Amino acid sequence: MNNEKPIRVLVLDDDRFMLEFVSHLLRDLGVSEVLVAEDGKAGLFVMSAQVSAIDLLICDIEMPGMDGIEFLRNIADQYYSGKIVLFSGVDPDLLKATERLASVRGLNVISTLTKPVTVGSLVAILAQLSIPIPRRPDPARIRQIFTVEEIQQALAADQIDLFYQPKIAVSSRRVTSVECLARWRHAQYGYVSPDNFIPVIEQSELINDFTRDVLRKSAQQLDLWLQEGLDLKISVNVSMENLDRFNLPEIYETAVRECYVPIDRITLEITEGKLGKDFAQSLDILTRLRLKGFGLAIDDFGIGYSSMETLKHMPFTELKVDRIFAHGAAKDPATRAILESSIKLGKALGLNVVVEGIEAGTDYQLAVELGCDEIQGFFIAKPMPGGEFTEWLAKYEKTIDERF
Ligand code: C2E
Ligand code: MG
Ligand code: MG
Repeated sequence: MNNEKPIRVLVLDDDRFMLEFVSHLLRDLGVSEVLVAEDGKAGLFVMSAQVSAIDLLICDIEMPGMDGIEFLRNIADQYYSGKIVLFSGVDPDLLKATERLASVRGLNVISTLTKPVTVGSLVAILAQLSIPIPRRPDPARIRQIFTVEEIQQALAADQIDLFYQPKIAVSSRRVTSVECLARWRHAQYGYVSPDNFIPVIEQSELINDFTRDVLRKSAQQLDLWLQEGLDLKISVNVSMENLDRFNLPEIYETAVRECYVPIDRITLEITEGKLGKDFAQSLDILTRLRLKGFGLAIDDFGIGYSSMETLKHMPFTELKVDRIFAHGAAKDPATRAILESSIKLGKALGLNVVVEGIEAGTDYQLAVELGCDEIQGFFIAKPMPGGEFTEWLAKYEKTIDERF
């Protein structure tokens, strides 16, 4: 069928599930050689051995350690001339900016993909490579990674677990709070990260029950920690899609009260990118959530669209600077400038400013110097199951002075 030279594709993503999923799809479509790398360093290793032999690079731009932007800089230095597809779960604007940056460096970006990746989008990319698709894709597979039905079954079977990532106060370096992050315990793929299934839930009715269940589970965990004598707060992510009903504050209040924990120990995080769809309704619901005592954080700040005006009017208590502006800020003046101005803005508005995604000691030092209040990131700890947290905390407290 296809007599042309076989193509070689390298897929670079820190998310094992995505690596497996995308490489399976490519093989299904008849691509003979699919190489995978789990981080930038491994990717560079593969590229250095076969830089001229890779026809297509599919690269996630958000990875711990060496991120996609750094990786692209490196392969530009190696004069990689093959085609590139950038993909990510982050804001499309950021993908566009990365694409422009890659073009300035002389790289050939042919497309960008937002997660979840579909068979249809991969077929379109292979078509752009002028490579005949050896096998016709099965139409049944042209769909999102997971269907709503699959996720519904997972929810019914209680397969959504919560992982917890600590946040420390800069002033005391003690753990003040914990962000609750959903993971799908999947029989075939192991833990699936939320970027791969939350967008599907958000497009369906399921999002309301899902968020209420996450809130309830998180509050139950908080209750256990408070009973153990730990002085902790928690943060729970809420989708903008949840703000579609005026009685949401009552629903969340009831969910929390059933767990006997004080509401003012819970902060709801709302992603900046989606704010302002229906301003009056969002403002009404958020203000009433504040009245009930919930803290309100604007999440992933810096990559969305919120104007000063929105920020001024919404009753936020906390601003979380997106991790893209924390990673490598100590070394990169442009990143540092955005980090600095975001922290200043948050402070000027009287908000608790959290910098998330801190991985390196140098970035930690910088965020502290720039005056943020709290830090979250792999530098402190990765998200972990609830059962591991108490032990981790005891060890952390014993070693605070050595760590910083
Ligand atoms: P988020 O709310 O901004 O959560 C922080 C994300 O950054 C988490 O990814 C966390 O694992 C990751 N992270 C923290 N520190 C570092 C670091 O130092 N380096 C790097 N590279 N990453 C770091 P995760 O758990 O994959 O969650 C991704 C997103 O999925 C979350 O971003 C949040 O928007 C969403 N999400 C997670 N759980 C829920 C949920 O229960 N409901 C809703 N609606 N969204 C959720
Ligand atoms: Mg969050
Ligand atoms: Mg965030």
